[in-house]
Amino acid sequence: MNERTPPTWPAGHRAALVVSIDVDGEYGVIAQHGASDWYWRTQAQYDLDAGLIRLLELLADYDIRATFCWVGRVAEERPDAVRSVSAAGHEIATHGWDHQIYTRMTREEQREDLIRTREYLATLTGTVPVGHKSPFWHSTPDTVPLLQELGFQWNMDVALGDLPVVQRPDPTREPIIQLPPSRWWDDYTFFIEQALPPRLVAEFWEEDFAVVRAEGKLMCLTVHPWITGRPGPSRALARFLDFVVTLGDVWIARADHVALWWRERERDLDQSATSSTES
Ligand SMILES: [Zn+2]
Repeated sequence: MNERTPPTWPAGHRAALVVSIDVDGEYGVIAQHGASDWYWRTQAQYDLDAGLIRLLELLADYDIRATFCWVGRVAEERPDAVRSVSAAGHEIATHGWDHQIYTRMTREEQREDLIRTREYLATLTGTVPVGHKSPFWHSTPDTVPLLQELGFQWNMDVALGDLPVVQRPDPTREPIIQLPPSRWWDDYTFFIEQALPPRLVAEFWEEDFAVVRAEGKLMCLTVHPWITGRPGPSRALARFLDFVVTLGDVWIARADHVALWWRERERDLDQSATSSTES
């Protein structure tokens, strides 16, 4: 079972890319800087009306379906935005009710937060979200078992490598597919912690992706409408997508599609390993 062949992505694709977009509204900066920090709150107010629209147009230009990780309270304030993103064929996943950090919650509080966010998003789109990204990627040892118990399919919190990883703390339940995030695949690192020129950011992601593709692996990009949705930074994403699309052999897919495909692939590999042992 250890000697598995390198991953072959669907339809002969050589590597895979997930574009994940975290819709935090003001709640990311409130959780980080406090509700009284109006400087950051006003910057983050760019999220829905300007940034999100620009990113949606960019995705439409490339005919790419992305995964939107949505904060529950932002959805409650702007249900129209969730509905229109879902109607455009993008995946809606959970990203905490109000972006509170899971490492400061009890297991029961995490459970309530996951259920409340998932149920609310489901009422807006008619589709129950199957994926979860924890606010600030701060999960605890309780998070994956809870996701498994609640019937989620994927999580994007832990960088265990450059491929999906099957996590099955409860062997009697369906697994959680852990999709790899990275601090260096996050626009926050480049445009907020530093203010780098968009062309350099695109170049960084292109260098990373060239290696990912050579190794047949997966990259999960994280961007935010209030950051990459700004004029110059949106060019970083456009240049990077140009690069990836031009390669011609990359599967650009929603996180749920990657997770489902990986789960089926692992099941097939397990079955063939079992039958070769039996024979
Ligand atoms: Zn966030």
